[in-house]
This record gives sequence, structure tokens and C-alpha cells, in this order.
Amino acid sequence: MPQTDPEAQRRFATEVVRRLKQAGYQAYWAGGCVRDLLLGRTPQDYDVATDAKPSEIRKLFGYRRTLAIGAAFGVIAVRGPKAAGNVEVATFRQDIAYSDGRHPDAVVFSSAVEDARRRDFTINGLFYDPLAQQVLDFVGGQEDLRARLIRAIGEPQQRFAEDKLRMLRAVRFAAAFQFAIEPATFAAIRQMAHQITVVSAERIAEEMRRMLTGPDRVRAVNLLLESNLAAAILPEIVVAEPSAQQRLEQSLETLGRLQQPSFPLALAALLHKLVDAQAAAAVGRRWRLSNAETDRCCWLITHFQAVRNARSMPWSALQPLLIAPGIEELLGLLEASGEQERQASQYCRQLLQQPAERLDPPPLLSGQDLLDYGVKPGPIFKELLHRVRAEQLDGRIRTKAEALALVDRVLAASANPNKSRTSRSQP
Ligand code: ATP
Ligand code: MG
Repeated sequence: MPQTDPEAQRRFATEVVRRLKQAGYQAYWAGGCVRDLLLGRTPQDYDVATDAKPSEIRKLFGYRRTLAIGAAFGVIAVRGPKAAGNVEVATFRQDIAYSDGRHPDAVVFSSAVEDARRRDFTINGLFYDPLAQQVLDFVGGQEDLRARLIRAIGEPQQRFAEDKLRMLRAVRFAAAFQFAIEPATFAAIRQMAHQITVVSAERIAEEMRRMLTGPDRVRAVNLLLESNLAAAILPEIVVAEPSAQQRLEQSLETLGRLQQPSFPLALAALLHKLVDAQAAAAVGRRWRLSNAETDRCCWLITHFQAVRNARSMPWSALQPLLIAPGIEELLGLLEASGEQERQASQYCRQLLQQPAERLDPPPLLSGQDLLDYGVKPGPIFKELLHRVRAEQLDGRIRTKAEALALVDRVLAASANPNKSRTSRSQP
């Protein structure tokens, strides 16, 4: 997303409402942006709700300045000045029948009050007229904002049955705003939490990403546990015995201390005392994370234990970690852990200060050197390069000649003649 300026955004969102009203339509800011403004937060983006139909919206703002983004739902993006970005204008609507537990089968255009009632939570169901500077509240959202409550609009069980993702949204909003979840809404989530798995892995992962990387991530995890949602989407953190409980609590403390973590780092912090890298990989697959994210999370979990004792690691074991792309996250994980880990991280940071030729000296031998030396390509290659590199880093060999002598020793010790250098010349 290009950089947008909150003031320009607000001006343009006001302008969109003015144009619609001048043309004789109703128009309001709607949903999350109204909630954020009333909370004193800067809205990420503005949504406008109107009784104008999509074709009328497009005619009014011009086809070149509009984009039908959710044609089926009647959502039109109106392009603003560069600094303002787009405003999404949606026709008041009612959602009809949710047979898949996630998406409405159809929508019908309707009135402002119906449009408020189809929304998920009372604090998300508010309208605001920026010209009259008036809130329009059909759902008791202002009162719940004051009481700091996440409350489903209408009957909670029915609303979660329609769209199960709302259960995760409730937890995310409660954590992000430090609101409580209203008791009947919370009871419905607890009872229906196991049904969250009908929601696509990608949408679940997206909610988890926002929760675990946000500032209120510990509260989010505690709410996931209390609401039974964790049992359905992340059973790895649902633990019973006191020792595991203690490790979970330590993990949560670590998670809370991370500074603006990436998703893989936050996930590693949450999991590293409870499961191994293999189990973390299974979480990555379950949520269809990219291989890069899953691998990073697993790498962090794998190396956390060793690097806690960085001072007693041979340089040949520590050095590859220090030059790995994930090192900043690994140090971040250490620094968010206990005192021993913080000291280990400090030690690593000192080593990282070394000049490049000390930190990561050019290898004495390359794969090409091995080929030129007559070694057959194969699994032994990697092993040889690894051995040579380790001995180089640990200062036991210093020249290419010494490296080749080591290659000879390793090959001679290797029982399998197929791996030996001399086998190349045999028929
Ligand atoms: P944020 O953008 O910070 O996640 P938001 O409330 O703006 O919060 P959006 O997903 O941008 O959330 O949705 C905008 C509005 O659309 C919401 O405020 C709510 O009124 C409505 N809405 C979004 N998702 C749902 C849903 N699953 N069920 C019912 N209403 C929803
Ligand atoms: Mg939004």
C-alpha cells in the first residue's frame, strides 16, 4: 500500500459523503472507521454506506474514478488523491442465508438500519455523518464503546453460526482494544469454538497473524485459551500438567516482551517451550503459511536451545547461526527470554561486530575445487565442504593445501569406495 496521509484520507472520505448527499442520497461513514474515531484512534481506512445503488455510485463519481471491487456485495471503490487512497462505498444491504458458515449466499439492498444489523459487533455497527458530525446508532454501539464491551449484534449463537470467523474477530477486537467480551457473546463462542475449523486456513492464519504480532498479543492468546478457540486451531498450547503450564506461562512472558515481532518470531516464542520444530512445522502447514515463514519459525525453535549457551559453542557451530538471515529474530527471542539468554545474546552481538573477513572468511575450498580435485559429486560433497569449513572456522586449518589434505583423510576413512576420490578413475 502506498503511504497515505490520515488528514487527506479523512478529507476525501468527507468529500465522498458530501457528493452523495448533494445528489440526494443518504451517506455515512460506517463500521470500523467510526469505532476507531470514537476510540480516539486513527482509522486505517474509511468505509461509506449509502442508499445509492452501485450503478448510481459509479455514475456519480465517474467510471474512471471507480472500481467495482465487490460487485456481488455492491461495493465500489472510489479513487481519491494519492495521499488519500480509496474509499469503499457500499450500498446498504442485508445478507441472506449463510449456508457455508462463512459467506452470505446472497445480499439484498436495504436500509441503513438493516445494514447496521448485519454487521458483527455493536461497536462495529455505527454510522457517522461527517457533515452534521452526528453518530447514528441502531445497535447500542456507543454504550458498548463506553462500557468497553464486544457484544454480538442480535443473537450471538445465530450470528456465529452464520459466519464462524466472527468468533476470532471478537477475540482480536477484545485484545486490541482491551475490551471484555460480553457474557452471552463469550458463552456462545465457548460453545461453538470447535466449529471455527470451517473457516479457511488462510483467514484463520490472517487473524492469528494480526493477533500474535499486535501489541496485545498475550491477552489475545489468553482469550484464545479461555474461549476454547485455541483447542480448535492451536491445540499445541492447550496444556494440562503443571510443568507444561509453567512453560506456557514463560512462553507468554517471552511473547509479550518481543519488540514488533514478525509472525514467525511471535509463533516461535509462543511454541518454543511447548513443542519441537517438527510440531511447529505442522502448525505452519495447517495454516498454509509460506515455506519461508514456516522454515523461519522452525529454525528459531531448533537453534534457540543451543544458542542460549553461545559461550560454550564451538565457533564452527555458532558462526553459521550468526550469519544466517534469521539471526536478528533469534537474538530478539533470546532478549525476550531470561537473564542467561540476554547475556548469550549480548555475547553474540559482540561477535557480530567483528569485521566481515573475521566473521565470515572466504571458504578455503569450493565445490568446484573438489571437482577439480577429482571428487565425484554426491552426498559426500556436502559433508566434505562442511568438515573443511568447520575446521577452517575453528582455526585448525588455514590453507587450501591443508584443506585438501583433510579431504584426503576423510575420503580414506570413508568405507564406501563410491565416495572415494580414487574410485573416479576405476571403470
Ligand atoms: P479492522 O479493519 O481493524 O480489522 P474493521 O471493523 O474495519 O476492523 P473490516 O474487516 O475492515 O473490520 O470490516 C469493516 C466493517 O465491516 C466492520 O466494522 C463490520 O461492521 C463489518 N464486517 C466485517 N467483517 C464482518 C463479518 N465477518 N461479519 C459481519 N460484519 C463484518
Ligand atoms: Mg477495516
